[in-house]
Amino acid sequence: MTDKQPLTLGSIWTCGRDFLKKKGVPDADLDAWLLMEEVWQISRSFFYAHRGDELKKKECQGQLKQYEEYLQRRGQREPLQHILGYAWFMELKFLVNSHVLVPRPDTEILAEEARRRLRPQGRVLDMCTGSGCILLSLLYCCEDAQGLGVDISKEALEVARENSRRLEIPAEFLCSDLFEKVEGKFHMIVSNPPYIPAGQIDSLMEEVSGYDPRLALDGGEDGLDFYRRLIEEGWGCLEPDGMMLLEIGSDQGDWVRRRMEDQGYRQVQIIKDLSGLDRVVLGYRG
Ligand code: GLN
Repeated sequence: MTDKQPLTLGSIWTCGRDFLKKKGVPDADLDAWLLMEEVWQISRSFFYAHRGDELKKKECQGQLKQYEEYLQRRGQREPLQHILGYAWFMELKFLVNSHVLVPRPDTEILAEEARRRLRPQGRVLDMCTGSGCILLSLLYCCEDAQGLGVDISKEALEVARENSRRLEIPAEFLCSDLFEKVEGKFHMIVSNPPYIPAGQIDSLMEEVSGYDPRLALDGGEDGLDFYRRLIEEGWGCLEPDGMMLLEIGSDQGDWVRRRMEDQGYRQVQIIKDLSGLDRVVLGYRG
């Protein structure tokens, strides 16, 4: 901030936005605002009503320092959600950190499709649960359903458990290499597994390649390793009329559908996201 211009919420935001733009941060306007909202704890309407009011530097030094620190971190392409410590998913607030994949709006397609199909008292398994966002958002809407979240990462499960506790959505969690330690049968298996081909991870946005856990991204050489195992090993964990719903990369739909059909799943269908890209494959065991 220069000392020449009056210190106002508006000028602070403009400086933040320009700094992030210079650093090549996508959506610099929005991120500068969201960090401001967090630091000053103000609503958008408060901002618009008061953005021209002059502030006294002495009185907001702590906030200015915090805002600058956040901007520096965002400027280094640390994801906004890591800086804030949370992400919104299906209108619920999930804690996130570097041990879990940041919940994506794309994944809401999977959560919505699952929500529409989960029956009362159904038992649902969320494989590779990460922050627990899919499982907990499902259980939130289907209170008498029971849920198990599985992940190979103990640190991720700590985040998922904490989310379950804070959101007051009870669920079980289990540390297991996919189905290795899973017992019992489920009416629904959902999963957003790692599906990026290993060689492509470094070419993703820096927010992803540099900060999301590699374990949550790396789908092996062709990106399909987890689907091979989920489709085959999941079959034995489904109730006779149970269903499997998988998030996929936009070019993986045909392969995953064929693999599911070969395994014996019925009524296999691909569901597109809002941009018209293949996003979810689902099928029934019976
Ligand atoms: N299920 C979690 C999510 O969708 C984590 C997925 C992962 O780690 N690949 O956000």
